[in-house]
Amino acid sequence: MKTHRIAAIPGDGIGKEVIAAGIEVLEALARRDGGFTLAFDHFDWGSDYYKAHGLMMPEDGRDQIRNHDAIYFGAVGAPDVPDHISLWGLRLAICQPFDQYANVRPTRVLPGITSPLRHVSGPELDWVIVRENSEGEYAGVGGRVHRGLPEEVATDVSMMTRTGVVRIIRFAFEMARSRPRKLLTVVTKSNAQRHAMVMWDEIAAEVARDYPDVTWDKMLVDAMTMRMTMKPETIDTVVATNLHADILSDLAAALAGSLGIAPTANLNPERRFPSMFEPIHGSAFDITGKGIANPIGTFWTATMMLEHLGEKPAADRLMRAIERVTADPDLHTPDLGGKATTRQVTDAVIASIGADNA
Ligand code: NAD
Ligand code: MN
Repeated sequence: MKTHRIAAIPGDGIGKEVIAAGIEVLEALARRDGGFTLAFDHFDWGSDYYKAHGLMMPEDGRDQIRNHDAIYFGAVGAPDVPDHISLWGLRLAICQPFDQYANVRPTRVLPGITSPLRHVSGPELDWVIVRENSEGEYAGVGGRVHRGLPEEVATDVSMMTRTGVVRIIRFAFEMARSRPRKLLTVVTKSNAQRHAMVMWDEIAAEVARDYPDVTWDKMLVDAMTMRMTMKPETIDTVVATNLHADILSDLAAALAGSLGIAPTANLNPERRFPSMFEPIHGSAFDITGKGIANPIGTFWTATMMLEHLGEKPAADRLMRAIERVTADPDLHTPDLGGKATTRQVTDAVIASIGADNA
């Protein structure tokens, strides 16, 4: 029997609550499937670790997880640790060196969940956002001089490489091709950002020649927010830069009902390094410890991890269980307007897995 080794990094805040729930669900799935087992190694890295050791993870942290088959990640961020330290010290310290350049964010309105858009009942909103995840605005290039003085200067340079842009646009065309509608929207801000973003547009046109079966268009990011809210049915697959897609995918999650349901895969498509799977939300310290964090995003994330591990039937079984649970408004957490707890949603998904005879 195959064993998949998974590095679990719950991180901070509700990250700990939703990853604990996700592991329970994954273990129930493995028992139900019978064809594979999951071996979890737990890493207590994050803001508490930082307060004790001055680092978000140990110096050799990446070496400790380099040979795992996947990383299951919660969220980072604590009220008393600067956000740039928690983000750069852990999440980006894994994504970037492990070359997880393709960040994939599916969004759809799950059964029983209400979109805040009046004209969306479900099928009109079914997107995959592909986020460039290795460079661009989050390349870490920049600096600050004359700190605190009137002549202070600070820069964050958005650095794009041809190799980096070609590979993400190619990945997005492949994604679009794999979906029934075969539509791709390439999002930039190439009117204002006239160097790197113009290169994006040019590369998109070049790569598109290899995908005559994919219909594609270009959109400026500001106009894209309007299209997402006014004409969601015209969108299928989207590719955008690290920053733009970060923002658009939170909007997408909200339009699909809640930030708490949305999943992410940070993929190293060549599989030279492990890929990392996480809900898109953060550590949500406003609700930490209350037992009401929505675990659905972390469960949906687990389906992406299972597919990556080659366990498609288990992934499908979990998605069916998730959809049966979201269909019941009594099992909605407060972010969805309900009263259910993380515990109740988790138990319901586990029960639904057990009852699934497909
Ligand atoms: P957030 O995603 O943590 O929370 C935004 C809002 O959504 C909050 O009101 C929160 O209660 C709600 N929410 C989020 N996830 C939810 C869930 N599963 N169930 C119910 N409600 C949920 O974003 P924020 O408040 O901007 O950031 C909080 C901290 O998280 C910051 O330190 C930030 O840097 C960090 N952060 C980390 C990541 C990550 O680790 N990938 C992503 C975003 C933010
Ligand atoms: Mn984000």
